[in-house]
Amino acid sequence: MSPSSEAAHLLEAANFAARKHKEQRRKDPEGTPYINHPIGVACILAQEGGVTDVAVLQAALLHDTLEDTDTSPAELEERFGVEVRRLVQEVTDDKALPKAQRKRLQVQQAASKSPSARLVALADKLHNLRDLQRCTPAGWSEERVQEYFLWALEVVKGLRGTNAVLEEKLQQLFQARGLLLV
Ligand code: NDP
Ligand code: ZN
Repeated sequence: MSPSSEAAHLLEAANFAARKHKEQRRKDPEGTPYINHPIGVACILAQEGGVTDVAVLQAALLHDTLEDTDTSPAELEERFGVEVRRLVQEVTDDKALPKAQRKRLQVQQAASKSPSARLVALADKLHNLRDLQRCTPAGWSEERVQEYFLWALEVVKGLRGTNAVLEEKLQQLFQARGLLLV
């Protein structure tokens, strides 16, 4: 892929995600536009994780479109190809299942994901935990924030051995909460 077509592919994914998430907001008290999150996840991969694979960066930009918008897998495959569609599906929870089971499955399945899916999952957790560290969502108690960190710790344990820099940054966040990634 030439550098200019790589840029075009990334921008197409960012544009698609921005349109799909356009009415949605994050849970932080300011109600940050939702798209800040997938863009932030892709930036973590590129700038901190040293990831250059365009399909992985596109999957990061698109990672919440199946879970949180009306986007279908077929639509992703048609626009972005089979590799990106598969990656996004790998990091998508099955919304037909109850929430507690979805959270349990993330822990159980983390280690069996592909290396590219594990990269997106690591950056997703890092972005969400940094957000929670920055400010508490409206209606969340300190206990709920801590429970989220505890659950994320169990998921990240299964994602280890994927990207040393991202794992070190996650380790530091967990340590600041008195949790150990061992
Ligand atoms: P949620 O799943 O409701 O919220 C966390 C998810 O919201 C993230 O994974 C992220 O997903 C998305 N998100 C949106 N905005 C933000 C933001 N600003 N910061 C971080 N994440 C954001 O949380 P849980 O239900 O898991 O709650 C945490 C813990 O608290 C759980 O372990 C649960 O047992 C416990 N608890 C839950 C209650 C409940 O009502 N569910 C009540 C009390 C305690 P994405 O990347 O997909 O956008
Ligand atoms: Zn996400």
